[in-house]
Amino acid sequence: MLYLSRKLYFSALHSYRIEEWSEEKNRDVFGPCSNPNGHGHDYTLEVMVKGKLNRESGIVVNITDIDKVVKSFVAEHLDGKFLNKENDHFEENIPTTENIVTYIWNSLDGKIDHCELHKIRLHENNFLYSEKEEEQMVRLTRKYHFCTAHRLHSEQLSSEENREIFGKCNNPYGHGHNYYLEVTVNGKPDPVTGMIANLADIDEVVEKEIMKKFDHKHLNLDTEEFKHLNPTSENVAVVIWDLLSPKLSNLYKIGLYETEKNYFEYYGPEEDLQYGA
Ligand SMILES: [Zn+2]
Ligand SMILES: [Zn+2]
Repeated sequence: MLYLSRKLYFSALHSYRIEEWSEEKNRDVFGPCSNPNGHGHDYTLEVMVKGKLNRESGIVVNITDIDKVVKSFVAEHLDGKFLNKENDHFEENIPTTENIVTYIWNSLDGKIDHCELHKIRLHENNFLYSEKEEEQMVRLTRKYHFCTAHRLHSEQLSSEENREIFGKCNNPYGHGHNYYLEVTVNGKPDPVTGMIANLADIDEVVEKEIMKKFDHKHLNLDTEEFKHLNPTSENVAVVIWDLLSPKLSNLYKIGLYETEKNYFEYYGPEEDLQYGA
């Protein structure tokens, strides 16, 4: 099986509102997204398909065949629309990122010849995207940024061993990174609010549990968590999971960019080889 993806762009307006609710309740639940006149985003849509490689042509499916279906669908139903008012589906369902990705999946599934739909990923902006695959669950990923210093040093190793393994990352004063943290939750969009989790709640938890503790700090010197734990990004990802999972019941994944080149993912202790032999 081969997997390929095509990226498309569109722009749309939306508003998060339940008309039966008071203005105050809409504000409370949806914050500034409840503005009845709407606000807009430049969305990036990734359509990923899978299929068998055709030996003669060397392709799974002609990209122009994907484009034909997807571009016309996007043009007709999404691009340039005020979704709440100009798309029947979103007159009934709030056009949250989770609901839009589900709608796109349901609309395109089975429609592209010579391949199967594998995944739909929809970026609302650089700091928020939602994904849908075959199963029922939808995932929502929020991205955060923090700057932190660390020194790679394990108390279980000798000074020589530390220098040998970690090189200049073992320098006594440490060094720092621009970390980007992705917090992914999964679930079914709530039938009323269209959300699998309220972003304001996730933001609040991450602010309290992660940003306040780690942003503009020296992990080894300023934090309880890494006083005796080597702050490798593997450990940082696990610690972040452990701090967030009691507060975010549907936490699915922690993604951590230490730099643009170094990326780490952690899915929690179940499938764990956390501390292998
Ligand atoms: Zn929005
Ligand atoms: Zn480093």
